[in-house]
Amino acid sequence: MSPLNIDVIPIYQDNYVWCLLTETETWVVDPGDHKPVLDYLERTGRTLSGILITHHHWDHVTGIVPLVKAANPHAPVIGPSFEIAGVTRLAKEGDQINIGAYQILVWETPGHTRDHLSYYLPQPGYLFCGDTLFAAGCGRLFDGTMEQLYASLQRIASLPPQTQIYCTHEYTLANLDFALAVEPSSQALKQRQQYSIQLRQNGTPTIPVDLGTELATNPFLRIREQSVQQAVKKAANLQKSDYFLIFSELRKWKNRY
Ligand SMILES: [Zn+2]
Repeated sequence: MSPLNIDVIPIYQDNYVWCLLTETETWVVDPGDHKPVLDYLERTGRTLSGILITHHHWDHVTGIVPLVKAANPHAPVIGPSFEIAGVTRLAKEGDQINIGAYQILVWETPGHTRDHLSYYLPQPGYLFCGDTLFAAGCGRLFDGTMEQLYASLQRIASLPPQTQIYCTHEYTLANLDFALAVEPSSQALKQRQQYSIQLRQNGTPTIPVDLGTELATNPFLRIREQSVQQAVKKAANLQKSDYFLIFSELRKWKNRY
């Protein structure tokens, strides 16, 4: 199998467009802006093969139409809805997309929005999850529901811990601040914060991150932990320890933070 390489194109303030590269194919995820992607294609001498879209927010989709027009009018644009300008092929739960020898499984991961997709490559173990799970945090609710977000994150948490999480925003430092407010005595969090600050000082993305790190430090994946439950119960003046309730109050706490 020829290798699958992943490259990143930073756009706007803190968005990442991920590129999936085989010897012959070039796919991009969520081109919210076209110009940086066109520059990348020119610089690398690559031809656009196709586009994967996670959800309809402007900073993920605005580049689709001008990018396809300029780079490859025949490139398939795969996404959750034809309401997104430029989408040529709908994807739904269980669909498979092939990039070279690599198989991508389509997951419906609603919550942040009602029709949010994630793209999972069992080999080599990559998840492109848009704005569902973030490094040390998770997406906020727009037109999806708390129940959907909870279920989507539980599902992601069940992947092998070595899975590499490719989310779409560099929110890691702010998320770590909040995570430390929830679990102030976590050594793993303090170490992760130090390491992430170093990465950002060098201009390096903190993403991807492996799921194991998330399970050890992301409060939204740690609602079964006593430390997280106690912190949320105190912050929300809760008596009960129901997992969904804890999750829901944790998300609301982050919104206020
Ligand atoms: Zn979004």
